Formats: sequence, C-alpha cells, structure tokens
Amino acid sequence: MERGYEEHMVRRRAEIADRMRAALAASGRREDDARLLAVSKTVGVDEVVAAMHAGYGLFGENRPQELVRKLDALGERDGVDQGAYRFDMIGNLQTNKINMVLGRAALIHSVRSLKLARGVSDRVLRAAAASAVPAVPQPVLFEVNVSGEESKSGFSPAELLCDLEELAGLPGIEPRGLMTMAPRGDEGTARRTFSGLRELRDACREACPDMALEELSMGMSEDFEAALMEGSTLIRLGRVVFDPAFVL
Ligand SMILES: *Cc1c(COP(=O)(O)O)cnc(C)c1O
Repeated sequence: MERGYEEHMVRRRAEIADRMRAALAASGRREDDARLLAVSKTVGVDEVVAAMHAGYGLFGENRPQELVRKLDALGERDGVDQGAYRFDMIGNLQTNKINMVLGRAALIHSVRSLKLARGVSDRVLRAAAASAVPAVPQPVLFEVNVSGEESKSGFSPAELLCDLEELAGLPGIEPRGLMTMAPRGDEGTARRTFSGLRELRDACREACPDMALEELSMGMSEDFEAALMEGSTLIRLGRVVFDPAFVL
C-alpha cells in the first residue's frame, strides 16, 4: 500500500473523530456513545489492512460473498492481529446466503422482514442441532424504511411494531437495535429520518420492555453528524474513510 494512502487514512480518521466528538458534545452525548464502522465494500484487502494500521477495527460489507472473501484473506495474512477487527453485514441478505454469514458477521444490520428474521433464527438453531452444541443467537438489527421511499427496503415503522412480539420470541436471534438509511438530499429530511428511527425505538421499548434495542445504526458519509445529533450509536462510513477524493 502506498505510503501516501496510509498517511491520508490516519489524518482522515483524526478529522472524522473530531467531527464525531463535536456532534456528540453539541447534543449533550458522551464521546463513547457512538462508534464508527468503516464500510469497506468498494476497496480491497490491502486498503482494509491500511485502515487497521490507521486504527479502525470495525468494518462493514454489503455482500455476503465479499464479507467472507475478506475475512478469509485477512485470516491468512501475516502481521494482522486476528483479535483486532470484526466485520458486520450491512447489505441485502437473501435467505439462501444466510448460512454464509452466520457466525462470521459479528452483527447483521440488515434484517429487513419477519421472514428474514425467521430464516436467520431457524438456521442458527439448525446449525447448532447438527453439531450438537447449544445455539448461540446471532446479533441482529432490524432495518427500517423510516422515510417510506419506494426504493428503500425494510420494515415500515407500523410493521415493526406489529411484528415485534414474534421477533422478540425468535430463539436464534439476539435483537440489538435498529438500522436505517436517510434519503439523499437535504439535512432536514435526514434529521427527520434519524429522529424517526429513535422515536420508533422508544415506542418498541415501550411495547416490548424485554427488548433493549440499544443500537441505532444510522449515518453515512454525507449525514453522519445529523445522525449523531439524533442518537446514532453506530455510524457507517464508506467514502469519507476510504476515498481520498471525498471532501469532508
Ligand atoms: C455503502 C453503504 C454505506 C456507506 O456509504 P457512504 O456514503 O460511502 O459513507 C453505509 N451503509 C450501507 C448500508 C451501505 O450500503
């Protein structure tokens, strides 16, 4: 990896951290209330290793095959601290690819329907039964289409509330929180989407006190400060981390 790229990564990480601190402070939150996940879907393993050298440890991929490919490559790489990173699944997960990511993705952000949640839970139980070990529930987030755009997938807020009890009862998943994407465009719309997800989380907690849903995965390169102001605990940044041409 070019020296210049690594130096850029280190500088950029410090700039992002400053922005995160400022947004958290401005909204009365603590510095460690939110974490940064580096979305590595457009880069290769060398760039991920450069990111690790710059201090990143939490990565996200949006395709199961690519998540597995990167994990396999990193697992065989000399000089990579195997305990120092984790990968989350953040993109569309088809039922027939669930087995690929189980036990490999630390957290699946993109459980976008009751059917998919059932599919994940069933496969966790089946895999455990097949190897005669206790099932370890897969940590998941429920993806919500807060803005109601046709092009976006996920539970509608009303659907999630309606399906909550069944979701809470699925033994093979461990619901950790909610995830959303804001429409592209102005900051006001983004903030309404993010506050909408937070309010939905509060309504879910009220309806189902057993579910803490402590994680709010929201905020990307162009809107992460707005997301942090509205309670994001996990921002997912791709271009601003990996693309030197992206203007922060
Ligand atoms: C690509 C992607 C991101 C990161 O987007 P950037 O705008 O590059 O920061 C975040 N979340 C999901 C689900 C993505 O697919």
